[in-house]
Amino acid sequence: MSGRVIVVGSVNIDLVARVPHLPHPGETVTGGSYERHHGGKGGNQAVAAARLRRPTLFIGAVGDDTFEKEARRALSSERVDVSMVASLAGQPTGVALILVDATGENEIAVVPGANGAIEPGYVRDCLARLGPLVGDVMLVCNEVPLHVVREALMCGAAAGATTVLNPAPAIGIDRAIFGLADIVTPNRNELATLLQTEATRTGRRLDTSTDAAVRARALLEPGPEGPGVRKAVIVTLGASGVVVLERVGSGLSANDGLDCGPRPDAAAASTAGGAASTAAAEMASAAPGPTSRAASRSAAPRRSDLRVWEVSAEKVATVDSTGAGDAFCGALAAALAEGRPLSEAVQRAVAGGALATTHVGAREGMPTRAELEAFLAARQPA
Ligand code: ADP
Repeated sequence: MSGRVIVVGSVNIDLVARVPHLPHPGETVTGGSYERHHGGKGGNQAVAAARLRRPTLFIGAVGDDTFEKEARRALSSERVDVSMVASLAGQPTGVALILVDATGENEIAVVPGANGAIEPGYVRDCLARLGPLVGDVMLVCNEVPLHVVREALMCGAAAGATTVLNPAPAIGIDRAIFGLADIVTPNRNELATLLQTEATRTGRRLDTSTDAAVRARALLEPGPEGPGVRKAVIVTLGASGVVVLERVGSGLSANDGLDCGPRPDAAAASTAGGAASTAAAEMASAAPGPTSRAASRSAAPRRSDLRVWEVSAEKVATVDSTGAGDAFCGALAAALAEGRPLSEAVQRAVAGGALATTHVGAREGMPTRAELEAFLAARQPA
């Protein structure tokens, strides 16, 4: 069944000053140049999904200032439905003030403004107005208040959507939140933060492995603070691609319950280099038997309860990797909303992330459907 992408998240205006050097405290630096961009992870991810021609709806907020209309128009001109974007009286639209020096070093201050003032009740009402969300994919990032993130994941799941949490930034996200999501998509640093903060809070032993597949497994296990991620964890590793850990029986794969053996990607993974994970190959090759199909949500997954595979990054001429993660999440959500199985959705997301790095800027670089299809077609073996 195909559905919509519903993004709950942030929208910002990025004000970028390119300066000769970054100012010290109290110093004024003059000269350089100035640019204005549209940003916010939520807005970028919504544009990423909409450019891939999936009906996309954004739930979030702008202020009642001069940036309000511009931020809305930047989404609606990309065919993102902004009918559920609130204009909050007395709030500024979110802004990111970015200073970049001649070497590319930067300093960033983000003022969340309206993004930080969204109420859980607003998100709940929006989702109630949308009705059943079966077949839809709800993509939530953490640039809105935590209680909004939690509400969105709970209401989305209750209405039948597949819920995807992009834990960015990873600050404040505990198991009570990530355990509500079907899929969680940390990058390498966010994975480290999620695990480290939980270990600090609960005393849970931290796996010191440098292998992302081994470390990410903890997110699928129950912990003292609640259950693990419901279906899958996808760790993005920049130019090293991704590692995916999926519960057998998650329902995200076309052949779920029929073929529980290692996926073709898993074999490729062990030769992928970079992120190549011996643990991933080992876990994936532990072919599960029929009894492992129904992995319990409350029990720690055995190796055989998980499919683990890696996908290498696409080789492209990278000029700027800003926004790769947003392109990845938007493309993943769009592919899942088209009813594609997880392995295919991840392949498309990996391609989307790579294509985004071939352009300067974040939102500007989100690939179109035509670009993505042409790229995928060109890499098919003849
Ligand atoms: P984030 O932007 O959130 O830090 P990543 O840097 O991990 O996220 O990028 C997300 C995905 O985009 C990666 O898993 C990879 O598939 C793709 N990607 C990122 N950087 C590159 C790159 N330099 N070359 C090819 N693909 C890339």
